[in-house]
Amino acid sequence: MNRASSSFALIVLAMIACPRTGHAEDVAAWFVPQESCPTRPCTCDDIPMMDAYLQNQKDALSAWSSVKADITTPTGPTSMSDAVTSFNGRFSGDARVLAQFKTCPGYDATKNNPNKVAGVTKFGGAVLDPCFCAAYCADIVNATVVHEMMHVPTTIAGVVGKADLIIACRLGVLTGHICNAILPDTLATSEVLSYTAGINALETRLDHLKTHDPAVPELSCTWTPLAPIARGPSVRPPSGFFARVALLWRRVVSGGSPMAVASHDAQR
Ligand SMILES: [Zn+2]
Repeated sequence: MNRASSSFALIVLAMIACPRTGHAEDVAAWFVPQESCPTRPCTCDDIPMMDAYLQNQKDALSAWSSVKADITTPTGPTSMSDAVTSFNGRFSGDARVLAQFKTCPGYDATKNNPNKVAGVTKFGGAVLDPCFCAAYCADIVNATVVHEMMHVPTTIAGVVGKADLIIACRLGVLTGHICNAILPDTLATSEVLSYTAGINALETRLDHLKTHDPAVPELSCTWTPLAPIARGPSVRPPSGFFARVALLWRRVVSGGSPMAVASHDAQR
């Protein structure tokens, strides 16, 4: 095979082996292209939500980075669904960001999914949930499109880059964890690169907005931060066996689970 046909074969291989990242094939039919999505320019008032959204994205990046690191270990995820499950166990979205999503006109909990607000069609264009565009300002929407579009080259490059492993595994030359790790690693790598691109895009816009009030460009923005996330007081188990038995008894007779708060905080 000459170089051109070799490259084509690799691309075809990538298309055949391209994992379901949840971003390409399963976008909802009612999602719309970015130009038809009802968003609006960001203003100084949007900075608190943009800050919270940005931190949410950084938390998600950190979770995917740790999933990716685990994939190389013998006990790491061995499928893409394992990797997604592992990610979900390490990331809990900011309740304030989720609450903002639910403010879109006509929000329908059975239809609008905060974990699936955008995707890429088989033709390579980004599409979004109109609810998402209506709930957040344009810089957040644009950063999300940057994230989604980054999945396309990173997924293809990830598979092409592992073509020798894929072939060896399919021929049975290689077996075991190294073969099982190919797809979850491709997914995790694509997510890490996509979150990084989206974060960079949003951070750039946020930095610019903070120093240039769109209403008065020569002035910096002023804004009031969001209220911190409401958390219950951290509850520690009392020391001593009888004190713990007494706490357990009070929970049995009066309901509630104060330990759940302590446990939840400990996991964060
Ligand atoms: Zn993604």
